[in-house]
Amino acid sequence: STGSDENDVVVLGGGPGGYVAAIKAAQLGLKTTCIEKRGTLGGTCLNVGCIPSKALLHSSHMYHEAKHSFANHGVKFSQVEVDLPAMMSQKDKAVSNLTRGIEGLFKKNKVNYVKGFGKFVSPSEVAVDTLDGASTTVKGKNIIIATGSDVKSLPGVTIDEKKIVSSTGALALSEVPKKLVVIGAGYIGLEMGSVWGRLGSEVTVVEFAPDIVPSMDSEVRKLFQRTLEKQKMKFMLKTKVVGVDTSGEGVKLTLEPAAGGEQSILEADVVLVSAGRVPYTAGLGLDKIGVQTDKAGRITVDHRFATNVPGVFAIGDVIPGPMLAHKAEEDGVACVEFIAGKEGHVDYDMVPGVVYTHPEVASVGKTEDQLKTSGVVYRVGKFPFLANSRAKAIDDAEGVVKILADKESDKILGVHIMSPNAGELIHEAVLALQYGASSEDIARTCHAHPTMSEAVKEAAMATYDKPIHI
Ligand code: FAD
Repeated sequence: STGSDENDVVVLGGGPGGYVAAIKAAQLGLKTTCIEKRGTLGGTCLNVGCIPSKALLHSSHMYHEAKHSFANHGVKFSQVEVDLPAMMSQKDKAVSNLTRGIEGLFKKNKVNYVKGFGKFVSPSEVAVDTLDGASTTVKGKNIIIATGSDVKSLPGVTIDEKKIVSSTGALALSEVPKKLVVIGAGYIGLEMGSVWGRLGSEVTVVEFAPDIVPSMDSEVRKLFQRTLEKQKMKFMLKTKVVGVDTSGEGVKLTLEPAAGGEQSILEADVVLVSAGRVPYTAGLGLDKIGVQTDKAGRITVDHRFATNVPGVFAIGDVIPGPMLAHKAEEDGVACVEFIAGKEGHVDYDMVPGVVYTHPEVASVGKTEDQLKTSGVVYRVGKFPFLANSRAKAIDDAEGVVKILADKESDKILGVHIMSPNAGELIHEAVLALQYGASSEDIARTCHAHPTMSEAVKEAAMATYDKPIHI
């Protein structure tokens, strides 16, 4: 146990923020303990987020392809069916292998792992109710809060994880619902809606705001919405849910225009509530030690990830910034570097965002809307995948690359890609932004043929000059 001997670093939470911070701290020679209540490492992301959703997105995509596209490629089956239990167990296996992998990394790096719920007793002491029913106190010179986030509930909508589910329930349904209603058109709702839509559900997405994925470049968003509609996803935008009735067999939702007006009823077998996530600090004892939070409940930190209480730091979903796993990881590394007396830095403007539907949508930097608002004079270069040879060769050519660059200097300000594997393609753009590259830098960089990445090069050419293939 760590009861008596003091740690250099104690990390509260073993998600992508916390476990990465713990490993990095140990690598820097700091004596480190990580406390996690879940029983497995990897946090929301690995257990009920990024990883299981990507497993199901891939499996459901394979089924959908087999059913609707294979024949076009000359691959014929007499029958294709969904074996949902097998699909779920593939997902579960991926998750459990990866969570155990992190435990292995903890051992390798000599991170002490305490399974249990931690709460502050003082700024340097955490009391832990361990999962085996005991209690212990863990002391640390520095404590990093990495407790992440939780599903945001909607007033009047009670999640039972059966008929009314959060993303966690939507990752583990025991049958394909005939009608699925998704409340909230953020990336989680669209990804889970895609999974069940491909497996046969009729999917309707209800969104209060006028647009899906509000952070997206509006031109790309329009294309994206049209693509999802072609996949039979229905959208009811500017619409709010004002009532839920689960007394019958399914669910009856009462809807109303966001601005008020006539009500309507929408029926569903399953309703997914994906209206955002909120920082998770319940039972942590933040008031006891006086850690400041903002109106949204997020912990306030400075550029070193230090809270107002000396020796107490916070990273990941529990602080402001994009609620993404890779952002949490960057926070974790930088925070520990500061604790170790080095310099750390995370630029939230360079954090890529990806929606893992098919096609995917990935972006980094500014949207055109943001540039317009800020009055920057810019140029736009676009290249459609319909003119990309690889995309045509594999008959998967829906999408576009859009590059925004400063008109004077040609410096790249934002890149938005909708395409298969856009989440992989985006990284040359992230690197370009990070290095302050111009669109000409990308255009004059040799790209392998035939690849989807050539569309990035051609969009770069289109930004300051002319593309070749269109
Ligand atoms: P978390 O991952 O939430 O980890 C916090 C951990 O702290 C939890 O395991 C919790 O049990 C533990 N904890 C909390 N309080 C205590 C306590 N008092 N004592 C001990 N332990 C405690 N992001 C992406 O970048 N890409 C994606 O594709 C993606 N897909 C997602 C899909 C879904 C369905 C969801 C829900 C999220 C997705 N996310 C994705 C978001 C991503 O999961 C989060 O941004 C990320 O997990 C945040 O990491 P974190 O370490 O800050 O917090």
